[in-house]
Amino acid sequence: MHTLIKGGTVVTAEGERRADVLVSGEQVAAVGERIDAPSGTKVIDAGGAYVMPGGIDPHVHMELPFMGTVSVDDFLSGTACAAAGGTTMIIDFVIPAPQQSLLEAYRIWRERARKATADYSFHMAVTWWGPQVFEEMETLCREHGVNSFKHFMAYKNAIMVDDATLIASFGRARDLGAICMVHAENGDLVFRMQQETFERGIHGPEGHPISRPPEVEGEAANRACQIAGVVGVPLYVVHTSCRQAMEAIARAKLAGHRVFGESLVQHLVIDDAVYRAKDWRHAAHHVMSPPFRAPDHQQALWGGLQGGTIEVIGTDHCTFRTNQKAMGKDDFRKIPNGTGGLEERMSVLWHHGVRTGRITPSEFVAATSANAARIFNIHPRKGTIAPGSDADIVVWDPAAHRTLGAAAHHSRNDFSIFDGMHVTGAAAVTMSRGAVLWQNGTLSPVEGRGRYIERPCFTDYARSQTVRNTHCAPTPVERQEFVP
Ligand SMILES: [Zn+2]
Repeated sequence: MHTLIKGGTVVTAEGERRADVLVSGEQVAAVGERIDAPSGTKVIDAGGAYVMPGGIDPHVHMELPFMGTVSVDDFLSGTACAAAGGTTMIIDFVIPAPQQSLLEAYRIWRERARKATADYSFHMAVTWWGPQVFEEMETLCREHGVNSFKHFMAYKNAIMVDDATLIASFGRARDLGAICMVHAENGDLVFRMQQETFERGIHGPEGHPISRPPEVEGEAANRACQIAGVVGVPLYVVHTSCRQAMEAIARAKLAGHRVFGESLVQHLVIDDAVYRAKDWRHAAHHVMSPPFRAPDHQQALWGGLQGGTIEVIGTDHCTFRTNQKAMGKDDFRKIPNGTGGLEERMSVLWHHGVRTGRITPSEFVAATSANAARIFNIHPRKGTIAPGSDADIVVWDPAAHRTLGAAAHHSRNDFSIFDGMHVTGAAAVTMSRGAVLWQNGTLSPVEGRGRYIERPCFTDYARSQTVRNTHCAPTPVERQEFVP
């Protein structure tokens, strides 16, 4: 089965050129000018459009059990709404409960994800420490293609890890050739500030940002970056939302540490005025961590994206309906944290980033697809359009207008934080491994067609880190420090 995407401008992170793209089966067969397709080839007219690698969102949570409830988008509705927005792959997080086997949790998440219509992979959260975790990290790397380990520095008394666990896990990941990730907020400080805020009589959603100021994030981001630098492991800082955290990442990069920054598209365009809304529902639907920030932080994030401190724009898509948010009606600490954005991510970034001239189309592809593919080691299978790559392709209409909102989106959520936003630029066709999932405004998900994508470790990469950080080169004796 062949498909020819004809007459478009192919954009990758490297550049753009007029070219046709021939898809054969599930892969790209050829990219070039005026390709002669075999007879019987289906043709997609991409005249006037960009042809780009499908988006990769490396930060989402489908059907996540969290704060006493479960996020409403599952792997089918999540990957389907992703496709409607031009995204063809997600990386979710397996989050074991403290003391739970990592492998057992991994199997549960794999089972949940079987219904996905587009491809997916998993980061593994390290939520506790012990000999079993030490061993299972290696099994996950070697046998299951998990090369990234996430650490929550917040959510005290739940999934938060202390510095000792962070250091032990970072060292183990380094030796395996894996990459570490952090949710950077000082959980002890948040816990205390939440209590104090509540005791002062502030019980509504406006208490949420008061209890998590930018300093709380900046401190944790800096700590994680410095620890990763000393240990010598690559680090990916998720959902960087403020100037303080971005400066910590920039400092680490200047020091030669391999640190990557991610921001969420939501934080680029929405500010903390949402928490002052009179409508409780509106404010509660914006409760996520880190919270929305004052507008000057948005400017810093855009600067970080333009200047290379931020490599990836994700969403942390984790949706809760109004009745779930209402669990925290009388106590902001009980509002399930999370917002959606998987379907809107690419249009919002195109509209506010490319159309304003802040970033080029190639930089857009880097931030929405190619960089995530490189950082998590699935490039060039994903994240580019080249012979042999998976045919995960979006035909992007730069002139298409959309008004975003809950009435228009395909998520199961009953609220959209982008409600009423007009954007120009949208996915006209989205193809996942050669199959069209979205065209002419029609979504055609196929339950179970999505595949689990294994991501091998970076063995040579880890070795180069060891050489680079000679002051902490892991001699056999020093390695012992990281063994439980
Ligand atoms: Zn998250």
